[in-house]
Amino acid sequence: MSTLDGIDDAHDVLRRVFGYDSFRGDQREIIDHIVAGGDALVLMPTGGGKSLCYQIPALVRRGVGVVISPLIALMQDQVDALTALGVRAGFLNSTQMPHERQQVERDFLSGELDLLYLAPERLRVDATMRLLDQGTVSLFAIDEAHCVAQWGHDFRPDYLALSELHERWPDVPRVALTATATPETHREIAARLKLDEARHFVASFDRPNIQYRIEPKQEPRRQLLRLLREEHPDDAGIVYCLSRASVDKTAEFLVQSGVTALPYHAGLDGRTRADNQARFLREDGVVMVATIAFGMGIDKPDVRFVAHLDLPKSVEGYYQETGRAGRDGLPSTAWLAYGLQDVVQLRKMIDDSEGNAAHRRRQGAHVDAMLALCETVECRRVQLLAYFGEKGGPCGNCDTCLNPPAAWDGTIAAQKVLSTVFRLARERRQKFGAGQIIDILRGKKTAKVIQFDHDTLSVFGVGEDLDDNAWRGVIRQLLAQGLLTVEGDYGTLVLTDASGDVLGRRREVMLRREPERAARTRSSGSS
Ligand code: ADP
Ligand code: ZN
Repeated sequence: MSTLDGIDDAHDVLRRVFGYDSFRGDQREIIDHIVAGGDALVLMPTGGGKSLCYQIPALVRRGVGVVISPLIALMQDQVDALTALGVRAGFLNSTQMPHERQQVERDFLSGELDLLYLAPERLRVDATMRLLDQGTVSLFAIDEAHCVAQWGHDFRPDYLALSELHERWPDVPRVALTATATPETHREIAARLKLDEARHFVASFDRPNIQYRIEPKQEPRRQLLRLLREEHPDDAGIVYCLSRASVDKTAEFLVQSGVTALPYHAGLDGRTRADNQARFLREDGVVMVATIAFGMGIDKPDVRFVAHLDLPKSVEGYYQETGRAGRDGLPSTAWLAYGLQDVVQLRKMIDDSEGNAAHRRRQGAHVDAMLALCETVECRRVQLLAYFGEKGGPCGNCDTCLNPPAAWDGTIAAQKVLSTVFRLARERRQKFGAGQIIDILRGKKTAKVIQFDHDTLSVFGVGEDLDDNAWRGVIRQLLAQGLLTVEGDYGTLVLTDASGDVLGRRREVMLRREPERAARTRSSGSS
């Protein structure tokens, strides 16, 4: 198969091997460029069709296409799928028995493979490098290339060694592919992999069939259930939670509510994980409740919704996770519920994380960008695409377009919150979170308010014009705008350098007022 000749080999392979009539998007140009021996950097959204971009050149060029992929758990599936199409594929990773590995190595050396999948850590083993020297490599495909970027959200140290491929095999073309890249990550991938001469193929990241919706958390599981019952009964979908415990609880809750839901996280044994994944892929209408350990490389076209019950750690992660919805191009929902507590929890995770100050700063910046997306009064898609360096107009298919939130002048409300935070900050030994601030503003004489004499503060009761939810919204938005930040285990609110401008009346604060029922955007029935 790899010795085809003639002018339109690529199209021939597309039809005969993969059974498709035409190329999509930039596939044709990318494939021609690689077949001709050029390097490429391919940025294409999930479901865009990246695999063919290296699989076809591997079949057209002489030798074996070597694919570096971090998705060890999926290698067997990928190889099986290719084998079913008549493509000769194998993989090498740490899960294999020595004799299995040796067989693949023999096939590689005798040229009886078209594609060889390698886990990145294999390249650290000198024997692997020597093996590649002894065979004929037609190209290197570096999948999930964003894993090389420290700026990104999914850094893997093993990927750094991939820059050596070019030094050792300067004549073998390389193609790096990813579905997630801000302009910063994009630049970093090119630099770290030394893709100096590579052509960059950047597809639009817009997924017009996905409706983006973000709403404040009140009773998150009930909100989720409402979404499933009203808009996605019997649909397949993924629900992401931050912790394993909350995955288990949420899956249990859904099952009790009559939904076919399965849990997936790294704490389950391998067998259960594999079974649940297989059921999700094969059966109709299964809801997978998972941590972000689930989903990379999963190719299920009819995932109708992706729901987040907790704030994702970055816009890149959010985009990649929501991108698993609607690969078939049909209408799908990306729904997120988030609250103040999420911000507290993420900040705490960052504070507790290993890594230096620069690393923590980067992670903090990722959270800030995610918060800004949540609290925007503009089109979600415009903001999302702007993050990936694309411009566009309002989309008409996100919650803010369909049900525009009113903007209101929240300067005075902001001043009330900030001056309460300022007064509490003087009580050095005691730390207070949002709950206490709201109780003070609303003039509630709770035990904790009395205990600390907070009913004697001048701000006590000055916020009776708004209810608890509205105040939580104000505080969330002050966090999103960098006018407040949180510290420590209990989510103590503290002022930032920018707070002074609001307190000193040098800066206005525009806030978003949540629409009455943020969730109802598609149909107009009542609940
Ligand atoms: P990605 O890796 O970018 O997420 P895949 O390579 O898995 O995307 O492709 C997504 C889906 O689109 C797959 O089911 C694939 O078979 C299909 N596909 C890719 N290219 C074409 C094409 N030219 N015509 C029809 N279907 C395609
Ligand atoms: Zn929009």
